Amino acid sequence: MKRSDFILKSCLLTAGSILVPSTILNSCRKDSFFDQEEFKGSVLIIGAGAAGLYAGYLLRSKGISFQILEASDRIGGRLGKLSGFADYDVDTGAQWLHGTNNILGDLILQTKTKITIDDSSMSYWFENNMVTELPKDPYIFEHKNLPDISFKDYAHQQGLDNSYDQIVEAIAGDQGASASLLSAYWNSKDEENWVSGDEDFKFSDTFFDFIHQQFAQTIVNQINLNKPVVSIDYSGTQIQVTDQTGAEYFCDKLIVTVPISILKLNEIQFNPALPATKTDAFARFGMGPGMKVFLKFNVKFFPENTYGGSVCAAYLDDSIGKTTNDIVLIAFVMGDQAANLHALGNDAAITNALIQELDLMFNGQASLYFMQSFVQDYTDKPFIKGAYSYSTIGMDNARQIAAEPIDNKVFFAGEAMNINGHHQTVHGAVESAYKAVLDLITSS
Ligand SMILES: Cc1cc2nc3c(=O)[nH]c(=O)nc-3n(C[C@H](O)[C@H](O)[C@H](O)COP(=O)(O)OP(=O)(O)OC[C@H]3O[C@@H](n4cnc5c(N)ncnc54)[C@H](O)[C@@H]3O)c2cc1C
Repeated sequence: MKRSDFILKSCLLTAGSILVPSTILNSCRKDSFFDQEEFKGSVLIIGAGAAGLYAGYLLRSKGISFQILEASDRIGGRLGKLSGFADYDVDTGAQWLHGTNNILGDLILQTKTKITIDDSSMSYWFENNMVTELPKDPYIFEHKNLPDISFKDYAHQQGLDNSYDQIVEAIAGDQGASASLLSAYWNSKDEENWVSGDEDFKFSDTFFDFIHQQFAQTIVNQINLNKPVVSIDYSGTQIQVTDQTGAEYFCDKLIVTVPISILKLNEIQFNPALPATKTDAFARFGMGPGMKVFLKFNVKFFPENTYGGSVCAAYLDDSIGKTTNDIVLIAFVMGDQAANLHALGNDAAITNALIQELDLMFNGQASLYFMQSFVQDYTDKPFIKGAYSYSTIGMDNARQIAAEPIDNKVFFAGEAMNINGHHQTVHGAVESAYKAVLDLITSS
């Protein structure tokens, strides 16, 4: 994913071994995290993805009592790793650090964590040929003042005819969306806010390991797995949280970090009901189908990255930045294409559809050299239900409204709640958690 680089330093601050941004990126706030009064109450965090884990890490650093309730049987949420598939651990969820001008970039510097730039080359499957250059530039979506129409319509309006549709699909897929649903205008506004940098990096281990080592390991005793929260009653002085078994938990303040899909689907009941402004805002978010399929071969027959397939618009070489003798291609599938593959109903059928497309692109070599696959489908994964949030037509200020705390008691974090243009990312989830914890402490 390449992003516009609006260079603005993020004024990161360390105190002791705790790393926090002294700003939420756009201005250096005087009220740094460490200047705040102690909050004496108790906190519950719902969700143990990047946002929930970092929120816990921060609360621990302030000596604030907290527990994390995680619905699934593991931590990490949309971060994950698979061992044994290749001679390195593959990232089944988030993989690239998108830019280093962010809190995780500074933490990487501080901890001397090895990351490698991913400058892999791009080829295009265009009009049934593999080419390295296209007749017209398809990267037209970062201009200013675009209309609030879909990527697909905007591309057509700008003279990219149907032959570019799957290339445009791949560009929209980076944003987790189908080109027909992603707003050219609101996405370009998001890009204007992006300050993290233009380059993508990979970890020599996995992104999951990095978050696990830096944040989760320090708070293992506060993480409670297999606790799907079904209701939140914030009508009284104490907030009452109930899980699927009926077990009740009480706290003074609550941080909700579940994916926006879970909030859109009302999987958690709020009492009092959330204000209509809030639920209307949730409804305006996009979060659609998405999957990563790992395809292992015994001969490398493909260029590094290929955009433009109609089954999968983006095939990416997974070996970049890894020490490996194995040959693994990722089918990075989003939006309608992911829905189509998901509808096939099983991993073998999904793999088969991808191999058939690769055979078409590379003269039958895919099936000749194919060894095995692994399908990580987020489309209906329990407690995730989609890839990541994107800005729809008519999105407007939905993100800002969604991220606002309620009654200074219920705070929202997670990638979708990042209001600095860093949504869809791990570092964006972490930044949103920082903001939620700072708001929680300053509101008390
Ligand atoms: C295929 C894919 C590829 C990606 N690639 C990248 C990438 O390369 N780089 C990047 O920066 N980002 C990437 N992302 C996005 C990144 O993974 C997310 O932005 C980030 O991990 C989100 O963290 P989070 O804490 O907001 O949410 P999550 O990680 O989704 O965590 C939320 C947690 O809440 C839990 N939960 C849900 N409902 C309940 C409930 N009722 N009760 C209790 N717990 C609940 C969930 O189980 C989950 O653990 C990718 C995402 C996907 C799907």
